[in-house]
Amino acid sequence: MKKILLGCIADDFTGATDLANNLVRAGMRVVQTIGVPKQPLEAEVDAVVVSLKTRTIAATQACAESLAALHWLQAQGAQQIYFKYCSTFDSTPQGNIGPVIDALMRALQTDFTIATPAFPDAGRTVFKGYLFVGATLLHESGMQDHPLTPMTDPSLVRVLAPQTRHQVGLIDYTVVAQGESAIRARIDALRAEGVAIAIVDAVSNADLLRLGAALSDMPLVTAGSGVAIGLPANFGIAPNDRASALPRVGGLQAIVSGSCSRATNAQVAAFIATGAPALAIDPLRLQQGVSVIEQVIAEALVFSQAHLAKGPVLVYSTAEPEALKHIQDQMGVHVAGQLVEQTLARIAVGLVKQGVGQLIVAGGETSGSVVQALGMTQLQIGAQIDPGVPWCAGKTAVSEKTLHITLKSGNFGTSDFFSKAFHRID
Ligand code: ADP
Repeated sequence: MKKILLGCIADDFTGATDLANNLVRAGMRVVQTIGVPKQPLEAEVDAVVVSLKTRTIAATQACAESLAALHWLQAQGAQQIYFKYCSTFDSTPQGNIGPVIDALMRALQTDFTIATPAFPDAGRTVFKGYLFVGATLLHESGMQDHPLTPMTDPSLVRVLAPQTRHQVGLIDYTVVAQGESAIRARIDALRAEGVAIAIVDAVSNADLLRLGAALSDMPLVTAGSGVAIGLPANFGIAPNDRASALPRVGGLQAIVSGSCSRATNAQVAAFIATGAPALAIDPLRLQQGVSVIEQVIAEALVFSQAHLAKGPVLVYSTAEPEALKHIQDQMGVHVAGQLVEQTLARIAVGLVKQGVGQLIVAGGETSGSVVQALGMTQLQIGAQIDPGVPWCAGKTAVSEKTLHITLKSGNFGTSDFFSKAFHRID
């Protein structure tokens, strides 16, 4: 297997997909792994994004897991390491952005890196070190009320400083606008002042591309997913169709939806309106015990068996807010969530065993459960269906055949997403 060029460590699963998607669009062939792989890579790629779940766990654990990912990526030959965090810089004074940066810098024996969550395509811009979400500053964007990582200060220099042992500085817009050599000169000046981590302004993709060129020899880059658009060019890679080419996979088509978000409700309704076969799972039945759960799964698979040969089949627990609240009041939010996720995941396994080769999963948590139940550990990233939602391909533990799968979190996708996705993969 050829060595990889770029090794990425993402602090959550959907953030990893977001980064992988940007790299593919910039021309790299990418595999996203779920956790640090134990097996060798299944596909020859330019970049690997290791997805961890380290955003809000204890800082020491986040560092340990990030270092394990680093060592695996180094063993694959990665020439540059990219630590990916949230585009709203989700963290607390204890971390985990700062501690993980410190640990990676130490392990890579590097004395300088950048930090910027800027992603203008997604409305995240950094100006004079202040993070904007759309037209509002971070601390007025709703993020100030986040249950785990409330962001009450929009100054990224101030936010990062208490999290790291290093001195934090700024490469501001006036420098970035001048391009690569000005950015490099500013890095040298900051380094001479003892600064080790620089927040970088970027308000447009052009800024990110100028920045990318100046990062070609930086061992560690830390950022949201935006900076990724400027890195593949450093390896002589330009956007191309081959980057998103997935192995051809035939097979039947199915959708498993456990998301109750507004967009998913619209997608489920639009799919049912086409007259396609759809089966609703009643969560209240799932609390009646193991034998009823087995019965619900068996019923779903009898239904799918009867319809799959004719076209895509939908199995869903998706419910409108009022129905959802009723179920959650009866069962408890956590119990309902777990029972529904586990049931849908087992139905997904059954569908793949029935010959489904193209599977759409709606719901972030639901996706996690399905991917785990299918035993998928590596996802090759393909073409984008809607912004941030690509088709992927990977091996499962339940079938010999490669599976095409797309993992659509809550509010992503247009209302015709399900039909559109199958149309795109044919
Ligand atoms: P999203 O990406 O839209 O947030 P998730 O899959 O992350 O979707 O979360 C949805 C959660 O709601 C899951 O835990 C799922 O099991 C649960 N859930 C889905 N349908 C129902 C339902 N009808 N009643 C109660 N909980 C449900």
